[in-house]
Amino acid sequence: MYDYLIVGAGLFGSVFAHEATKKGKKCLVIDKRDHVGGNVYCENVDGINVHKYGAHIFHTNDKDIWDYVNQFAEFNNYVNSPVSISKGKLYNLPFNMNTFYQLWGTKTPEEAKTIIESQIKEFGYKNPKNLEEQALSLIGKDVYETLIKEYTEKQWGKKATELPAFIIKRLPVRYTFNNNYFNDAYQGIPIGGYNKIIDGLLKGIDIKTNVDFFKEKDTLSSLAKKIVFTGKIDEFYNYEYGNLEYRSLRFENTKLETENYQGNAVVNYNDSNVPYTRIIEHKHFEFGKQKHTVITKEFSEQWTTEKEAYYPINNDENQKKYQEYKALSLQESDVIFGGRLAEYKYYDMHQIIASALQKTKKEFNESV
Ligand code: UDP
Repeated sequence: MYDYLIVGAGLFGSVFAHEATKKGKKCLVIDKRDHVGGNVYCENVDGINVHKYGAHIFHTNDKDIWDYVNQFAEFNNYVNSPVSISKGKLYNLPFNMNTFYQLWGTKTPEEAKTIIESQIKEFGYKNPKNLEEQALSLIGKDVYETLIKEYTEKQWGKKATELPAFIIKRLPVRYTFNNNYFNDAYQGIPIGGYNKIIDGLLKGIDIKTNVDFFKEKDTLSSLAKKIVFTGKIDEFYNYEYGNLEYRSLRFENTKLETENYQGNAVVNYNDSNVPYTRIIEHKHFEFGKQKHTVITKEFSEQWTTEKEAYYPINNDENQKKYQEYKALSLQESDVIFGGRLAEYKYYDMHQIIASALQKTKKEFNESV
């Protein structure tokens, strides 16, 4: 008999399994895919780690979380500095002095601030209620129209006025010439890839891949005293209150016999007439010197129950529905829910790890 059946071998499940095992518990980790690692999984294509389920750049401000991941892999000094192409012109991201120079020719913070503040005054809102209002209130009309509106609507398949404001607050606005996409103190890509971290976390733990929990729910559940569920919470409850909305992605990978395709790991395409949101050139995450390269075009797609759910769409309607599912989950004494899909939350990797560590602590204070 296992102490925990862990459904989903992504970051949440793997951290939970690792911590529980350290406490002397017996865990079985299952995953419906043919590999562990969830969406951080990388596939090695001729020496290049391809981020198979979308680019993952580790960043955190929390020294404990940074030390935690560094137990399993060393990190390189990659700093994410995407560029965006809008109407044939190239702009630096996040929104900073380089971007403002490219937009308006402004050379000092004072000049840029004057423009942005006057645009915020004219077009901004006191209490922004959606992503469009939030963006206009944060950065003004020009940046919104050049670098946000079309990308966002393509990414989410919804009007920016129908999306929650918090999404755009992920991006920094800076009056320095600093293209670092994140404000966090620690950032990098694990040397040897994310698989190294997952393998480290799951070392010595029983794993079964190609196992669909929902196909053998009763048999699998009977193997353990408790379940840690990291899949979609609405699916767990058989879509009882209807399905939550997600956004799906499709990736088109191409190996090219060229050394350097786009000169950067991430290039965003703002325009609505370009069907993909971004092109990732994976070798640049690890400063690769290969003669070839692998690029991935990322297409944002309407989600259906057969497709992978990547992003929760946390608008009011879905949040209300999620609260109903959450209320059900709180009645469970033997199921722990965690991760992006089970908590219906737009978590980054460092937040997932923090949440898994917190949940294990809670679990063991109670039961040990
Ligand atoms: N975003 C944008 N333009 C860009 C990049 C991002 O408007 O060039 C907005 C968009 O709404 C996106 C959000 O910022 O959903 C968060 O972007 P981030 O790069 O953090 O998203 P992720 O990498 O998680 O897809």
